[in-house]
Amino acid sequence: MFSKISRETFIRSIADLLRKAEIELPDDVIEALRKAEAREENPVAKSQLQAILKNIELAKNHGVPMCQDTGIMIFFAELGTEFQSGFDLEAAIRDAVVLATVEIPLRPNAVNPLTRKNSGDNTGVEIPDIHWKLVPGKKLKITVAPKGAGSENMSALRMMNPTETGSIKHVVLETVINAGGMPCPPLTLGVGIGGSFDKAARLAKEALLEPLDAPMSSFEKEILDAVNALGIGCMGLGGSTTALAVHVKTAHCHTASLPVAINIQCWANRHASVVFGEEE
Ligand code: SF4
Repeated sequence: MFSKISRETFIRSIADLLRKAEIELPDDVIEALRKAEAREENPVAKSQLQAILKNIELAKNHGVPMCQDTGIMIFFAELGTEFQSGFDLEAAIRDAVVLATVEIPLRPNAVNPLTRKNSGDNTGVEIPDIHWKLVPGKKLKITVAPKGAGSENMSALRMMNPTETGSIKHVVLETVINAGGMPCPPLTLGVGIGGSFDKAARLAKEALLEPLDAPMSSFEKEILDAVNALGIGCMGLGGSTTALAVHVKTAHCHTASLPVAINIQCWANRHASVVFGEEE
C-alpha cells in the first residue's frame, strides 16, 4: 500500500509489478499446476508438467521471465473516485513499461498491426492496453496481465443466435479442439457471455484473473470436465489435464444477441497487482 505517491515512485512500482508478473506466477496458479502433476498418470504429460514446474522455480530463483514470450502489456486499473495522483497516470504507466522493457528485460512485442514495424519498447498506439474502472474510495489498484500470443491467437468470439444458449459448451469445446497444443496447455479458460461484441471479450479476459482455487459453478465445472475429457493434455501431448479452470462472466445483452467470447490463457497465467492510496 502506497500513499501520497510521486510520479517517480509510481513508475518504479509499476516496473517492479511487471517484473513480479513476468518472473513469478500467483500461488493459486502454481498450486493448480502442482495438483495437475500429482494426479497425472500419462508419463509424457507428467514429465511435461514437471518441466513446467521446474521452469517456474528457475525463473523465480534467477529473477528472469518464465517464458520467452513476455507478452503484450494489459492493465486493469480500479481507480477510486477520491484518489488523487497529481500526474498523468496513463503516461506514467507507459513510462514504466518502457523502463521494465530495458530493465528486466522484456522482449519488444508491440508492432504496428499493418506495417509490422516494432516500436522496440512494448508501447504503441493504444498499447499498453489500460482498462479503467471507477470505484468508490481513495485507492488505486493496478493489475498487470502480460498476455502471450500463443494463447491469445487461439481465442475466439462468436455472435451466437439467442436460441443457442444450450450450445455454448459446444462452442468452447470447438475452440479448445481447434487450439490443440498451440496455446501451451494446461489452459485457463475465460468465457464472457453477453454484453456486446467487445464487452464479451472484455468479460472473458477479466475472467482469467479469477483465482484458480475459486469455487466453480456447475456450468463452469461441466465445461471444465468436458474440456479435460478431450485428452489434449499438457502441451497437447495427451493426458488428463487440458485446462486447470474455467471461469465464466456474464452481462445482460440485447434480446436479439448472444455474444460468447473464449479467451484462452496458457500455463503461464501471469498477473500481479499493487494498491496505491490512503488507508480508508
Ligand atoms: S502461449 Fe504462454 S507459455 Fe506458450 S509461448 Fe506463449 S506466453 Fe509462453
